[in-house]
Amino acid sequence: MKAPMNDYLAELLEICGEDDGAVADYIPELAGADPDRFAVAIATLDGQVYSAGDADVEFTIQSISKPFTYAMAIHDQGLAGVLERIDVEPSGDAFNEISLEPSTGRPRNPMINAGAIAAHALVAGDDADKRSERIVDLYSRLAGRDLSVDEQVFESELSTSDRNMAIAYMLKTVGTLTDDPADVVRGYIRQCSVSVTVEDLARMASVLAANGVAPDGTRVLEPGVTRQVLSVMATCGMYDAAGDWLTTVGIPAKSGVAGGLIGVLPGQVGIAVFSPRLDEHGNSSRGVRTFEKLSADMGLHLMEAPESARSVVRVPKAQADDAPSVHEVAGDLRFIEAERVLRGLEAEPEDDGVVVIDLHRVHRVHDVARRMLLEGIRRLRIDGHEVRLVDPDGLLPDPDVDVSEPGDDTPSEDYTPQVFDTVDDALDA
Ligand code: GLN
Repeated sequence: MKAPMNDYLAELLEICGEDDGAVADYIPELAGADPDRFAVAIATLDGQVYSAGDADVEFTIQSISKPFTYAMAIHDQGLAGVLERIDVEPSGDAFNEISLEPSTGRPRNPMINAGAIAAHALVAGDDADKRSERIVDLYSRLAGRDLSVDEQVFESELSTSDRNMAIAYMLKTVGTLTDDPADVVRGYIRQCSVSVTVEDLARMASVLAANGVAPDGTRVLEPGVTRQVLSVMATCGMYDAAGDWLTTVGIPAKSGVAGGLIGVLPGQVGIAVFSPRLDEHGNSSRGVRTFEKLSADMGLHLMEAPESARSVVRVPKAQADDAPSVHEVAGDLRFIEAERVLRGLEAEPEDDGVVVIDLHRVHRVHDVARRMLLEGIRRLRIDGHEVRLVDPDGLLPDPDVDVSEPGDDTPSEDYTPQVFDTVDDALDA
């Protein structure tokens, strides 16, 4: 069978191919880019990549490097250390605005150049070369192949980098930069000049979507780091078009001046589009259109609640007096599912009857659900019940609870429910 996904993507390019906008020309080398290039790619969390159009054309990552370097700065310095230097408020300004927050002297966010240059300098490394090397190495691990710097674009941007130099010197005056500003800008421009394809970008985005885990199961970024990065992408990733983008497309995103654009749908996919003509905000015109269409076609807007939750909670029907009741859960056990389970357990009369909690069709118990479930077990026990768990995969390890009466002189008393592989075993016990 021919992959329907690829055909859909090819169709998408046809629909969104109007040739409005203009190629960036403030970096001489970018002015020569073929304006008609157009490509799209989608990468799933398990490493499947679908693409259409000019999927093997390389271009420079430019500002799409910013979220990934920000992630590395947080990894190296800790979130508090980075927040001290770079804020997370949307600026509503253009990407290369020469401005700092008046009250704190911090760049407004890490997605505009001021914040991105500051973030670059926070990456650990003895000098600019070492920092750039570590950064390229991280991008390569995210893309799943060795990436390198396009030296021509790098030299070209370096020769016209007065504005970024101005930003870096300004950062030095407020103490945000302690290194040589020219050296930091050099490193920052190297990070912007890493050469990628639209498929590389989709893969990089998919690792953010997977909470930092690569398709082969290796952890590349910590979950707390990806959450921070995606939040900032959602509010600041599209510069002064961020609000419009979040309401229409509804996907955390980042654009680059070479025409790349990534979107990250947490827990689902990484998406990338490449087309060099830019709109008035400096975002790829066709890229924006393609994302709008994709999001509408596929129902990808983050703020659109799914119609039916994936998880099911079955509360037992009334049974014969002495028959054990079975509370069954399937899918993911998060706050809302645990709340439903607790509601079912609350209806149990206070007696010594057996209560079975069946988790055999659950695939994940989130920490909050674990705490809520254990509290439910504790209260059932205090009411006099015997609790039996059906948990063949050990999703609720160490389910022991403290059932001692509150008060200083009561010694603590633990209760551990029996665990079974099947509901029948639990009922027969
Ligand atoms: N390297 C570019 C710059 O600093 C990146 C800008 C962008 O992609 N928006 O100007």
